[in-house]
Formats: sequence, structure tokens, C-alpha cells
Amino acid sequence: MANLGIPQNTIEILQKYHFNFQKKYGQNFLIDTSVLERIIAAAQITKEDCVLEIGPGIGTMTQYLAEAAGQVVAVEIDKALIPILAETLAPYENVTVINADVLKLDVRQLAEEKNGGKPIKVVANLPYYITTPIIMGLFESGVPLDSITIMVQKEVAERMQMGPGTKDYGALSLAVQYYAKPEIVANVPPNCFIPRPTVGSAVIRLTRHREPPVDVRDDHHMFALVRASFNQRRKTLANGLSNDPQLHLGREQVTAALEKMGLPATVRGETLSLEQFAQLSNLLKGK
Ligand code: SAM
Repeated sequence: MANLGIPQNTIEILQKYHFNFQKKYGQNFLIDTSVLERIIAAAQITKEDCVLEIGPGIGTMTQYLAEAAGQVVAVEIDKALIPILAETLAPYENVTVINADVLKLDVRQLAEEKNGGKPIKVVANLPYYITTPIIMGLFESGVPLDSITIMVQKEVAERMQMGPGTKDYGALSLAVQYYAKPEIVANVPPNCFIPRPTVGSAVIRLTRHREPPVDVRDDHHMFALVRASFNQRRKTLANGLSNDPQLHLGREQVTAALEKMGLPATVRGETLSLEQFAQLSNLLKGK
């Protein structure tokens, strides 16, 4: 089968099937062999690995994954792509294609069935319109994971790596860093895709922490605090948290906890580190 990373081969298969790109599915297909090689290298895939690919498109990256991995499970929402994948992936016996919306799929059960509950690797050139729900869904649902290596919008990749006190630091940075170590491994310009996206892209590897990096008693409570403080970014943390209807916290309770942490009552959420959010959650949640 021809390498679809070569633009001419992609164009030929798209024409053969009269394929129409669906904007609503975030379809931008990779046409650059060196980017594909870098993604596979960054994901550190071996023949021992079971890889979940989200959105295989016409199977460009799937071909590379099938060569490198023991097993590949590829989940594609667009049924118009299924006959194309049947042709482009025909030579590979270690690939299963599932026609489904990944957000509605029980990935944990899939990992159990395909890999006996051992950690899987996720590799994807993600549809950008659902980047955050896909990543958070994977982390929060308790799917056994080694790493997630994904192409995302460049700004989103940068946000995942940010620390306190920067403009782009937010709930996504804290969530990603609680679950994993983020490392941007490549910047990818629009001309590496067909059709060209309007934004720059980056490949980021999120290596799952074996142990959580902070000691927090109730991580759901911590993330409720994180969301409330970044929802009201311009307010002080004490106001933001005591105004939140779901948290049921009094202003005095919050300022007392901040004082215990050596922080002023006027502190803003965007200056707190993950460790400080964990500490605050432990103080407010009680024993
Ligand atoms: N992997 C291919 C490549 O690199 O050329 C295609 C990447 S394209 C950016 C994103 C792919 O995800 C498309 O094939 C799109 O149809 C698929 N997709 C979009 N939303 C999805 C969803 N909710 N579940 C599964 N696949 C989805």
C-alpha cells in the first residue's frame, strides 16, 4: 500500500472515493512523512504496545502505527472514511477500526478487552474542536495509560505546559499537569495538512504520572476549586470561591485557609501552583 504521507498518494485516494472533507469533524489530514516519523518516535512505540488512535482519517498515521506497534485500535466517527480505511489498512492484520464517536465510547472497557487492562498508548492528530474533552475524558475515566501523544492547536499545547502567573495558565494546565508530564516535541505548520488549518499546530507528549505529583485528599474537590477560581479570573480567590454556588464556602473560611498557607486574602487563583491548590483543597475539605 502506498505511503499516504506522500501528498500525491493522499490526493489519489481522496479522488478515488470522491471524499468530501467535513469541517464539523475537524478533518485536516497529515501529508508530511517527516512529521509522521517524529510523532511515532516521540510516542516511543514498540511491538509490546497496544495503541489507541483517535480519528484515523484515511489511515495515514495508522499505517505508521501498525508498523511500529503490536496492536492498533482506531476509532473514527465519519462513516464515509470506513471503506477508505478498509483499503488503506488492508495489509495490516494488527489494526481494528471502530466506527464510533470516541466521546461516547467506553475506552476503559475497550482497553480491558484489547489489552487485558495493561496501560495503552494514545496517539492522535486530534480534531481540534474537542481536544479538551478528549484529553480530560481519557484521564478522568481511569483508562490505564502510559502516554498520550497528540497533535493539537499550538496555543493549546503551550497552555498545557504553563505555570502560575502567566496569562495562559488555567484549568487545562493544572489538570494536565496533575495527571501527566507535558512536553512539546514538534511545531507543525499548516502546510503539512490537507486542507490547511487556519492555526499552527504542535505535537505534545503527555506522560502519565505513576503517582500523583501532589498530595490531595479529594481531587474532584480540588478541580472544583480550580474551575471556580479560573471562571472568575478577575476576582480575588476569596471572592471567586465564596461566590461559587456549588462550593458552599464562606468568605471567612476561605481567607482563614489562605492565611494558614501564608497567602494574603487578596491573592488571585492564577498565582497558585498545583501544590497550593491541593493544600487549599485539603484545608477546606477538612479531615
Ligand atoms: N489521523 C488523520 C491524519 O492525521 O491525517 C486524521 C486527523 S483529522 C485532524 C481528525 C480525525 O478525527 C478525522 O478523521 C475526523 O473525522 C475524526 N473525528 C472527529 N471527531 C471525532 C470523534 N468524536 N470521534 C472519533 N473520530 C473523530
